[in-house]
Amino acid sequence: MEALIPVINKLQDVFNTVGADIIQLPQIVVVGTQSSGKSSVLESLVGRDLLPRGTGVVTRRPLILQLVHVSPEDGRKGAGDENDPATWKNPRHLAKEVDAEEWGKFLHTKNKIYTDFDEIRQEIESETERISGNNKGISPEPIHLKIFSSNVVNLTLVDLPGMTKVPVGDQPKDIELQIRELILQFISNPNSIILAVTAANTDMATSEALKIAREVDPDGRRTLAVITKLDLMDAGTDAMDVLMGRVIPVKLGIIGVVNRSQLDINNKKSVADSIRDEYGFLQKKYPSLANRNGTKYLARTLNRLLMHHIRDCLPELKTRINVLAAQYQSLLNSYGEPVEDKSATLLQLITKFATEYCNTIEGTAKYIETSELCGGARICYIFHETFGRTLESVDPLGGLNTIDILTAIRNATGPRPALFVPEVSFELLVKRQIKRLEEPSLRCVELVHEEMQRIIQHCSNYSTQELLRFPKLHDAIVEVVTCLLRRRLPVTNEMVHNLVAIELAYINTKHPDFADACGLMNNNIEEQRRNRLARELPSAVSRDKPVPVARKLSAREQRDCEVIERLIKSYFLIVRKNIQDSVPKAVMHFLVNHVKDTLQSELVGQLYKSLLLDDLLTESEDMAQRRKEAADMLKALQRASQIIAEIRETHLW
Ligand code: GDP
Ligand code: MG
Repeated sequence: MEALIPVINKLQDVFNTVGADIIQLPQIVVVGTQSSGKSSVLESLVGRDLLPRGTGVVTRRPLILQLVHVSPEDGRKGAGDENDPATWKNPRHLAKEVDAEEWGKFLHTKNKIYTDFDEIRQEIESETERISGNNKGISPEPIHLKIFSSNVVNLTLVDLPGMTKVPVGDQPKDIELQIRELILQFISNPNSIILAVTAANTDMATSEALKIAREVDPDGRRTLAVITKLDLMDAGTDAMDVLMGRVIPVKLGIIGVVNRSQLDINNKKSVADSIRDEYGFLQKKYPSLANRNGTKYLARTLNRLLMHHIRDCLPELKTRINVLAAQYQSLLNSYGEPVEDKSATLLQLITKFATEYCNTIEGTAKYIETSELCGGARICYIFHETFGRTLESVDPLGGLNTIDILTAIRNATGPRPALFVPEVSFELLVKRQIKRLEEPSLRCVELVHEEMQRIIQHCSNYSTQELLRFPKLHDAIVEVVTCLLRRRLPVTNEMVHNLVAIELAYINTKHPDFADACGLMNNNIEEQRRNRLARELPSAVSRDKPVPVARKLSAREQRDCEVIERLIKSYFLIVRKNIQDSVPKAVMHFLVNHVKDTLQSELVGQLYKSLLLDDLLTESEDMAQRRKEAADMLKALQRASQIIAEIRETHLW
């Protein structure tokens, strides 16, 4: 079971490299009031002088301290895993150069190896000052330190600033609250084991450490109480009741220790001496409890707790790693492989784009837009709603007034007063009206052209995601399609123009629908005229048109106008129907279908050239970077998963 802890440390390494906090690994966190001896406890667990300790605020940034056990043999060779370039561990050859038995490394100083523990302490101090200033300020940003030694058991420890009440130095007014928040941030992690430190010379019943631990661990399943300064108790008192759990019971146990006093520190008393003295002290003062207290026992207990904890966490950890691995795998897949066969890739991408483009028009695309009409559906909408409606709103007699009509009639009859409404004037006037259909028809072409242009964007955004990897190819494709569309625009416009021109070329008064209308109308008009004459209403005017103020129309003129208006209207409707029908057909044939049919060959023709290959398939730097990150993460996850699988096989429980 001992082997579990290196496993967790390994996992943590793996995740440190990818800079991810995605898996919360069990770690031991010390909490307590300021100067209760937290750093001292940690230090004796480490077995070396390396933490800044002392009176007042000393620990001002969280310190995440990972202890790695190495056998003395390994120590000289270095315990780094050379197959694992990802870790910030000591590479074997470096350790060899150092030839040390114990050494430390900081995450922030990368590969620098510290064999001098005084230097480590100085580095912690200066790194603390770098972020939190030199006047008692506190920062929540942790320092990561790793200690490799044959004198430690495998543990990850977190040293935190002590709880305080009154701000001093640069500390803000709410320092108490800030430190509380910081502590809570670490201990609320359900994967942490809380080491609640209380000095023996204070009242355990008022222990802030136990109080805050209860807040996040009310059942006391991951809280261990440590009583420091057993040597500093008032004469005549002892910690018997406290250590026996009679004052406050703590489920996981209460362990008393004796650390080095300030004087010991000043005199540079060694850890070994301190532990020996501690043992002597316990034997003398608490003989019955000596083997269940002290720094060594604390270390063993912690190790055991941690292993139980890890064991409980592993199944969930495994699931999470696997889920994450799957997620990163699919992310990586979506980035695509680095290109090997450029020519094939290019062709494939071009084809895919062209297919997708056509599919969007046909409505068979894979990614159907749901927020707005797009592609073929939008073209349909343009034809039937936009264009259709516009045409229908064109008034057959719009822009014509009675005077225009009369003038046209008169001009057409020449010097002879005509008996019948002359046809020439009808032709003249109806052509003028038909011409008005051209503008909305050309507008229809323009709208469809715009939509075709939009489809390019749609395809490259949604459908052909891989294209985003190759910005140059993307731009080139857009360029080619845009050009193709632009080339088709005049051709289509010309055709639409001609459609109207054709209508203008010959006014077919023998059109069956028109002839019918004429016949019907003549009767009507005759009848109306008779009625009007009978009622003797000489000033009767066209219902729709205002009477020109200048002069009144004679009954004859009035009648002629009406006849012409009706003829125009009737013929115009026929033509409008034709245009409404033929313009969409022309647009489809000359623009939409043509582009659809030639797109692929156009793209291939212009882009599939060996000279262009390298340039077009240059990946965006961003993409290469993201692929690498995802690949690294995936590798780390797979390694993590493998590590867990190994434990499951080797270490049965
Ligand atoms: P922290 O603020 O909780 O990290 O406390 P430190 O570890 O910095 O210790 C504060 C002071 O108490 C230091 O001067 C230590 O030497 C002293 N100290 C800590 N533990 C003990 C102990 O068990 N016995 C004695 N005599 N002094 C201790
Ligand atoms: Mg401290």
